[in-house]
Amino acid sequence: MKKHNFNSGPSILPTIVLQQAAQAIQELDNTGLSVLEIGHRTPFFIAIMEEAKSLVKELMLLDDAYEVLFLHGGATTQFMQVPMNLLNQTATAAYCDDGVWGSKAVKEASLFGNVAVVASSKDKNYTYINKQFSIPEQAAYLHITTNNTVEGTQWHSIPETNVPIVADMSSDIFSRPMNFKQFSVIYAGAQKNMGAAGVNVLVIKKEILGKVNRPIPAIMDYQKHIEAGSLMNTPPVFAVYVALLTLRWIKAEGGLVEMEKRSREKANLLYSTIDALSDTFTAHVAKEDRSFMNAVFFLKNPTHETPFLELCKENGMVGVKGYRTVGGVRVSMYNALPLESVATFTELMKDFAQKNS
Ligand code: PMP
Repeated sequence: MKKHNFNSGPSILPTIVLQQAAQAIQELDNTGLSVLEIGHRTPFFIAIMEEAKSLVKELMLLDDAYEVLFLHGGATTQFMQVPMNLLNQTATAAYCDDGVWGSKAVKEASLFGNVAVVASSKDKNYTYINKQFSIPEQAAYLHITTNNTVEGTQWHSIPETNVPIVADMSSDIFSRPMNFKQFSVIYAGAQKNMGAAGVNVLVIKKEILGKVNRPIPAIMDYQKHIEAGSLMNTPPVFAVYVALLTLRWIKAEGGLVEMEKRSREKANLLYSTIDALSDTFTAHVAKEDRSFMNAVFFLKNPTHETPFLELCKENGMVGVKGYRTVGGVRVSMYNALPLESVATFTELMKDFAQKNS
């Protein structure tokens, strides 16, 4: 049976990307070599890296004030690499504690300097985005998580501030057009909207660098990675290649405008079904902050949760169990998920509601 893949990450990728990646494992573009066998300093790989970087900028409409890096370590590494590069020991960075991942970023940053948590939504289990806050004038930067994968909230407008904004976009990168020039650093693990696990994309406004006075180990130093063109050491070659294939797919499908259109369609269908079946399902997230990527909701009657999840499994729905600390149901609707999967899921919800009302 065809699976409907609602995994939160690693997650569904476009079929064409999987086919092209499989082909490149056999042989990359008539090179006589597998993509796994090419040296990272060969013209073959340099061309892959350069095209991937330039597609990131093209999709985000960014100019040469920005650099793109592909680095190891997952988004978690950025929780410490950002403050290591941007926050002096005696300086202050502003953080929005907007979910599980944001709070991890706070913890790591406090190892490097002062952290002012300017907004938190912990009081309501991170079920909303706290937008009422002020930022200390001298803050080195403001850190936000644009989409909270675990709790299912999303920033639908980015705060206006003169302070440089650093954004963890791991779970909504390339899902919508934004004014990306509002950000000084954007980072994301690739394993949701951008490809295979094993690589991060970083977008950095160059003028923000060079302001800290601590010694930075070379492998952690953004400036040194920029100078080395993301090739300081062996990059995760295959993950970069899959990112390139996914970026090409996004562009060919109509870019971020089209990705947003599809996301809205999928999310509207799912949320309107949850709301219409409010005797059976309930979503705790504030409506205005609902994520278009990850919808988190619950069974009104907690004893219905296991049978509902079982029913999903029987019907080929993968990855719908909520995060371990949150519970309930989480449906991830990344770029590659077809509307048809959401439609099949909502039919199942209706069926379940009818039989269990
Ligand atoms: N930030 C966000 C918003 C995430 O969703 C995740 C992972 N799901 C991370 C950070 C951590 O990413 P990684 O596992 O790549 O370190």
